[in-house]
Amino acid sequence: MSRILTVIPQAWGAQALEAALGAAQQVSAGEGFAAVLISSQPSAQDAEWATRAGARQVYQSVHAALGECDEAQVLVAAVGEALRAIPRLGGEVPLVLLPPGPQGEELAALLADHLDGQALGRCVALRFTGDELLAERMAWGGRMRLCLQIARGPAFACLRAARPVFNAPSESDVFTIELHGHLPTALTLDKRESGQRLPPLEGARLVVSGGRGVNEQGFALLEALALSLGGTLGGSLPAVDAGMVPVLRQVGVSGKFVSPQVYVAVGISGTLQHLAGVSLDSCIVAINPDPEADIFKVASLGIVAPWETLLPALLDELR
Ligand SMILES: Cc1cc2nc3c(=O)[nH]c(=O)nc-3n(C[C@H](O)[C@H](O)[C@H](O)COP(=O)(O)OP(=O)(O)OC[C@H]3O[C@@H](n4cnc5c(N)ncnc54)[C@H](O)[C@@H]3O)c2cc1C
Repeated sequence: MSRILTVIPQAWGAQALEAALGAAQQVSAGEGFAAVLISSQPSAQDAEWATRAGARQVYQSVHAALGECDEAQVLVAAVGEALRAIPRLGGEVPLVLLPPGPQGEELAALLADHLDGQALGRCVALRFTGDELLAERMAWGGRMRLCLQIARGPAFACLRAARPVFNAPSESDVFTIELHGHLPTALTLDKRESGQRLPPLEGARLVVSGGRGVNEQGFALLEALALSLGGTLGGSLPAVDAGMVPVLRQVGVSGKFVSPQVYVAVGISGTLQHLAGVSLDSCIVAINPDPEADIFKVASLGIVAPWETLLPALLDELR
């Protein structure tokens, strides 16, 4: 039995299937892996792709109530039942790979909790040395690389790898597992307009962020600046706590990770917790009256001035 297993919800589409198979192929380095395909009905075509990517066992796990449902809580129940039904995985620390991306990372974390395993999240490298599993993760916005030795499995992880190489169909075992367990009811989402004038942080090419050093009038100017430059607004945790900016716009280790071309930090001191949310590739422009502020150590352009004098002048100039 393989010690690497990839779980692929078929409702996530062909891209997720390909990405998960690419990761499994890379980590297994020719030793083969098992694939668990989760859906409401078996797909001979997907089973064949898995086989051609190197899966030695394919478990088509079907639950009639799944339909097109791709909600994490529902999938956890179905995947949990499937994993309990298949023979014990080989190796000291079996590794379960989910498709890379936010959905896969959420499912990996929920499954680790559900099955008393280890949540490794988004890894940049995974390898076995003998029976030992080593996982590498980036931390602090890419400023640190952690190498983790996993002592106890199963470990649940996501890895972005190259596209898989599909070989000619080979011998592999394809099984169908009928699932009958109770699935929680999928949530029905009610979508409404938020009335937000600004685009989301995700994908923005320019982010103007404010920190504790900026008050309500200052944030109004930051918003005007972001709008006039075609960017969007962010903030530090204290700015969120003070109600200056919604929590969805918090940048940092407990907020969002952003990778704009330009990140304008106004009234932000430059703590590690904040900078963990800003890509190393972003050009940081800092505005702060304290020349000793840490933000100037990472800024490409630093302006030692209070926002009260700088922002109105900048907006006037832009107009
Ligand atoms: C577990 C944990 C998670 C955390 N997660 C996050 C996170 O996700 N994001 C985050 O941001 N923080 C986070 N923090 C908090 C973090 O440690 C800092 O407290 C926070 O980043 C500081 O925010 P700041 O730079 O806005 O405030 P401060 O550090 O107080 O800096 C304010 C800056 O404003 C400047 N200033 C003052 N007056 C003016 C003016 N008139 N014009 C311009 N500048 C002025 C000051 O010189 C100062 O440098 C976390 C902390 C912990 C413990």
